[in-house]
Amino acid sequence: MPRIRLLSALVAGTLVTITVFAAPPPVNNHPELHAVAGAVKASNLHATDVALVGFGTRHTLSTTTSKTRGIGAARRWVAAQFETISKGCDGCLEIVTPSQVFTGKRMPKAGAEVMDVVAIQRGTSDPDRVIVMTAHLDSRRSDVMDAAGDSPGANDDAAGVAALIETARVLSKHRFPATLVYSADSGEEQGLYGGKIIAQYAVDHGWKVEANLNNDMVGNSHGGNGAHDPHTIRVFSEGTKSNETLEQAAYRRYHGGGVDSPSRNIARYMAALAEQYLDDFHVRMVYRTDRWGRSGDQVPFLDQGFPAVRLSESNENYDHQHQNVRVENGVHYGDVVSGVDFDYLANVTRLDAITMASLAMAPPPPPDLAVKGAVAYDTTLSWQPSPGAASYNAWWRETTAPQWQHVQSASDADSVVLKDIILDDWFFGVSAVSKGGWESPVEFPGFAGSFARSPKLGPDGKPVDALYPSFGRFGGDAVGQPSWRHDTKSDGHP
Ligand SMILES: [Zn+2]
Repeated sequence: MPRIRLLSALVAGTLVTITVFAAPPPVNNHPELHAVAGAVKASNLHATDVALVGFGTRHTLSTTTSKTRGIGAARRWVAAQFETISKGCDGCLEIVTPSQVFTGKRMPKAGAEVMDVVAIQRGTSDPDRVIVMTAHLDSRRSDVMDAAGDSPGANDDAAGVAALIETARVLSKHRFPATLVYSADSGEEQGLYGGKIIAQYAVDHGWKVEANLNNDMVGNSHGGNGAHDPHTIRVFSEGTKSNETLEQAAYRRYHGGGVDSPSRNIARYMAALAEQYLDDFHVRMVYRTDRWGRSGDQVPFLDQGFPAVRLSESNENYDHQHQNVRVENGVHYGDVVSGVDFDYLANVTRLDAITMASLAMAPPPPPDLAVKGAVAYDTTLSWQPSPGAASYNAWWRETTAPQWQHVQSASDADSVVLKDIILDDWFFGVSAVSKGGWESPVEFPGFAGSFARSPKLGPDGKPVDALYPSFGRFGGDAVGQPSWRHDTKSDGHP
């Protein structure tokens, strides 16, 4: 695949059209992102992974009182890492441990407490706009209810938590307009409970979540079938919003927008960043919410109406997933440290870090984006001002193309006319650009592409309009209210 870099910045007010194959936004080059990528260390990732595996098991229902074994000790260790990082940045991280009691198919009848360990790096000027990175701390054995036996979970998902802590360490050295959140979830293997907790925490705290980057199984580059690819990470994204109304779905089905949810445009943004800033490391976009019949902690974010993607390794080894550690007929089963490729994991972490940084530096995508041009030779895009934006870029692409192809600056206007670009023949979008040249993801017009949280809720908290039915349901039910504890010290938790 040809890779062409955009070497020149757009000059505001100048009409420029560029065709590229694989490297659209951002248009500008930021040395800061090269520095962020360069600061990620594979040795730190290895140390974290070994430490987490050292807790024997991190099963959600394992002991919380032992100092050396189980989910409680692992949670306290993660909180301590965040505290150490925070000491190095003048207290830039606020550490919270939201929790809730759940029951369900993979939980005790009476319910059990699930607790996340979350570090919040508040934005300097737009703190309610939030980018959330997640990974899950809990692990499992062949029997998902076996909370006693060893369950190393080195790749699933200690590798993801290692990426989370390393990203927090690297980004804590910088300040960002928007807020960055690093959430080590529990309860994922029992039913995505930790994802539900942090997504609900976001709702209850009025966060405008622009993206959730869920890292789950991101450290293995060798497939169980012999395939090996250390240069690619899969980024899964839904094509249409999981909570569109019947009316919105009907409109979108007729006019297009089936491959342009905000989650998908986050995936495109990541693909472009990887081409621009990483050394021979690429995003393979997968047009699915998750792997076939499987799920992860990005799903509760999608359910809450927030954009979210899942990062997963290029090739999986099924013998190493959800299996007791053992050798049978010469086959090694189980998820141990030797199965993690830490140089590969370092590249995944670099992608997380530059994506978090770029999103948090850039303004949000423009609100209320609309497109017009039926029975006309020109296409007109219009939007509301994006806070912090100094200019806007209009992007378009072939309706069958995976990535944005053409760009025209709209300067600081709130609309642009694309001369002799016929609406019928292309998909369109607009990004917002800061004074310093930081560019937001491209947003597709209308509901299908909007980054605003949806759907519209009534006073009872339920959707006002009938929703398009969603597929499946993961996990069980809450027992009682969530607890949004605000520090880790007052009551001896986590
Ligand atoms: Zn997992």
